[in-house]
Amino acid sequence: ATPMSVMVGVGKAAEAGVLIRNGEALQTASKVTAMILDKTGTITEGAPKVTDIIVADESYSEDFILTVAASIESGSEHPLAQAIVDSAIEQNIELENTTDFQAIAGHGVKAMLNGQQLLFGNQKLMLKHSIALNGYVNKAQALAYKAKTPMYLAIDNKLAAIIAVSDPIKSDSIAAIKRLQAIGIRVVMLTGDNRATANAVAKQVGITEVFAEVLPEDKSNKVADLQAQGEIVGMTGDGINDAPALALANVGFAIGTGTDVAIESADITLMRGSLHGLSDAIAVSKATLRNIK
Ligand code: ADP
Ligand code: MG
Repeated sequence: ATPMSVMVGVGKAAEAGVLIRNGEALQTASKVTAMILDKTGTITEGAPKVTDIIVADESYSEDFILTVAASIESGSEHPLAQAIVDSAIEQNIELENTTDFQAIAGHGVKAMLNGQQLLFGNQKLMLKHSIALNGYVNKAQALAYKAKTPMYLAIDNKLAAIIAVSDPIKSDSIAAIKRLQAIGIRVVMLTGDNRATANAVAKQVGITEVFAEVLPEDKSNKVADLQAQGEIVGMTGDGINDAPALALANVGFAIGTGTDVAIESADITLMRGSLHGLSDAIAVSKATLRNIK
């Protein structure tokens, strides 16, 4: 494309809230054949709220469970952690100081409180520590089928509770995904969340292909897999976890409200946070290429 037509294209896109960092990305956008969408914060709002607390050990109250969970999560920057801490604050629960805090990527968090060992996270984390879950796996699964994310709390290696959160889908994600599919793009969801939750969200937004339970370090491998299949891959994400995948994709799209690391790793930023920005960018790209010919 001529420098002039690229400049016009970049300007047009900016009017739609789509910031294009380089002319190459503008030209590649219209050639994308597969679009990978991160789930949390990309398809969904990324602001989960606590919906359910299931106490598994009768010696604990719901308040105690929330106190313990929020106390561990106050050390984490994960959106799930924010949901737990916010819920505790709303109920005027005072947090306690934990020690030996450790975040385990793709699994959850670990800490000590009053001499007790706390584990909070997904089923993988519980399996890693051989925590018996018994019938509670089914209860967690039932929550996941409702598109909620269940997390397990273990105190001294014994299951204490399940806490579930729900993250609403952005109001225009369904329409924006339809627009991509309507121009023949293969749309795939990518998430570290559990398979049942991921499938439930995918179903709500009309996505049939899902990569779930993907560890942070494996997200970029999914981009490579699709590229190996001959796809020109667009990747859209908001998190630190998404940065390597955004960088590897043929075109990386960051959500403008996302983390700085994601924005810096991407070629294009969707300032309005809406996935409509993807089709807008592709349309501008097509118009730019037409002008050259
Ligand atoms: P994503 O950003 O795609 O949701 P992550 O790898 O950050 O993926 O998280 C994957 C899963 O690991 C979460 O769905 C959750 O079950 C668990 N997890 C990660 N961090 C935390 C945390 N701070 N507290 C509880 N669970 C967590
Ligand atoms: Mg995300």
